[in-house]
Amino acid sequence: MYVFDLKVGYSCNNDCIHCIIALNRDEIIKVGKTCDRTFEECEEELKKAYCQRISQGESYSKVVLTGGEVTIRKDLFQLCDSVMEKGFTYIDMQTNGRVLADFHLTKRLVENYPIAFGIALHGSNADIHDRVTRRKGSFAETVQGLRNIADCCGNIMGKVVISKENYSFLLDTVKLFHRLQAKYVNIAFPHSSIGDPRFADYVPKYSEIQPFILEVLEYAKSEHLPLQLECVPFCFLEDYEEFTEYSDLFWNKKKKIYGSPIQSATIDWQKRRLEIKDKAKVCENCFFNQLCEGVWKEYIFYYGENEFTAVTDLGRFTKVLSKMEKLHKFEPQKKAEGENLDDCRA
Ligand code: SF4
Repeated sequence: MYVFDLKVGYSCNNDCIHCIIALNRDEIIKVGKTCDRTFEECEEELKKAYCQRISQGESYSKVVLTGGEVTIRKDLFQLCDSVMEKGFTYIDMQTNGRVLADFHLTKRLVENYPIAFGIALHGSNADIHDRVTRRKGSFAETVQGLRNIADCCGNIMGKVVISKENYSFLLDTVKLFHRLQAKYVNIAFPHSSIGDPRFADYVPKYSEIQPFILEVLEYAKSEHLPLQLECVPFCFLEDYEEFTEYSDLFWNKKKKIYGSPIQSATIDWQKRRLEIKDKAKVCENCFFNQLCEGVWKEYIFYYGENEFTAVTDLGRFTKVLSKMEKLHKFEPQKKAEGENLDDCRA
């Protein structure tokens, strides 16, 4: 499977506290460059992706339209047309969903394109969500967008980025997604960077979020809700290890994921992701070491290695392996067309 992550630009109608794009955007603007691609530039990126896909002989392919916020662009439909004209199979639209509060726009998208909406909702009520997005009224619009997609029988893939503001309300947020008919929920540990002055303001510790994560996983398991954790290693997930993305990534090594950051060359996200992650010393003794990608580099830089405990129980490890093997054998299409909402954050 070939996945191309097209960043259309960094402009957005939210201003999330955890947004890594904000740092890149400020840097680009500082040096006098533009942070949004023109339609022609997007077309160029799609053409390059098309050639790359063909040269690799991949038939099934997905374009992730992401930003910033793609739905605020005037050429939104033109972009979708362009993706389909190039022969890609599927569109994964990563969005905060606010513009989708317009029913007619949402209906037009659902009716005309094979599309999954990766909708970011960071809290179960306006108080929490709007504090994260720093835009008053954003919760109401996003929820209306979700309702509109469901009313049009579209595909909803929920996305929550964990932060100090919302981690203790994760279960309520996932339950809300479930009520709003999300087919799958992705919960991501925030990606910052070394030197980010906001790091300690919004990045929580794994040990703090662990009980809330386990509570959510128990819910997902009992409700048969497909859910995946991004950048949460096995050692924090005893009895629920199959929910980490690392299980999926290990079994899906053939998946090719490329990204196109603004003002920068195309990247191979499968390689790049490993370069910006790190592990603790104890990982060398952990049975999961070969499967696990660890955590974002800045996490260990700022919070150290004390929370990591190598898994040395062979019984636990083999139990997880056989569980994962069964899942991947019998559910190759388990997240339907949405697959992972692989998110190129470089
Ligand atoms: S390899 Fe390290 S980070 Fe990964 S599960 Fe083991 S101890 Fe945790």
